[in-house]
Amino acid sequence: MKTLSMCVPPADAAARKAVKPTICYPTATLPRPDLPSYLALRENLRPVEALTVQPREAATWEIPAGHFCRIICTQGPQVGDLNLFNAHQLDERLYTGKTRALNGTHVGLGDQLFSNFPYLRPIATITHDSLDWYGFDEFGGAVHDVIGTRCDPYTHNLLSHGDQYHHCCHSNLTRALADKTGLPLRQAEAHVHDVLNVFMCTGFTKDTGQYFMKASPVRPGDYLEFFAEIDLLACMSACPGGDCSAEHSSDSAACYPMKVEVHAPQSLPEGWAPPAWNGYDRSHGRG
Ligand SMILES: [Zn+2]
Repeated sequence: MKTLSMCVPPADAAARKAVKPTICYPTATLPRPDLPSYLALRENLRPVEALTVQPREAATWEIPAGHFCRIICTQGPQVGDLNLFNAHQLDERLYTGKTRALNGTHVGLGDQLFSNFPYLRPIATITHDSLDWYGFDEFGGAVHDVIGTRCDPYTHNLLSHGDQYHHCCHSNLTRALADKTGLPLRQAEAHVHDVLNVFMCTGFTKDTGQYFMKASPVRPGDYLEFFAEIDLLACMSACPGGDCSAEHSSDSAACYPMKVEVHAPQSLPEGWAPPAWNGYDRSHGRG
């Protein structure tokens, strides 16, 4: 947000601003999943696990490579803050920054979620989004963003001049990951990372470029589904903001449980194998 301008525009300011933008990462050369073969498997799925994420809490679950995971709205509009890890090593995890750079600010059908450096590979592919009709609204809002970082008690502490709130998504994810791994709370906290905001409706204001949220359009029965490209450990918080229409970092919003299902396909996509780690040699120009 730039509220103050102190410098005189140069004579060619208008011409400089009129230069047309270029997409940073044209994805024409990006290896893409064979989406039709993934979608064909959806006809014959076998449920293998179901769990509930309680409001203002988080839960963990595992998704074997080649399985499908559904995050389902059950009783009312509720946003979920999702972390994804390599189930065998926590240091490989969802990298929302590069996922955003490659896919755009919000993800949907066919988009892939990428892991961090030095691994940088697709770890999940979105195979169904019952909110794909939403697109972008008149405010520039859309659902399932990889922009926001997760609500957290540190930012809340700054903005509220010292309040201590313990059920932000960051804390919920930290407790759930500590319970799953047996790590002390502070070690578990270090693994919690920027999230995929499932069902959250967000964008940037056109005048100030500020991150905004609005009531999620999700309704009971809606779901987001993805295919696990590698063995995944998932951790998700049912955000204290509920539908994130007004505020988070408090107990004032209506919150609802969220359901998670893991489904096994009858077979794997033809020719599919978990993507290899990134091929960069990591020499960084030093022999
Ligand atoms: Zn949250």
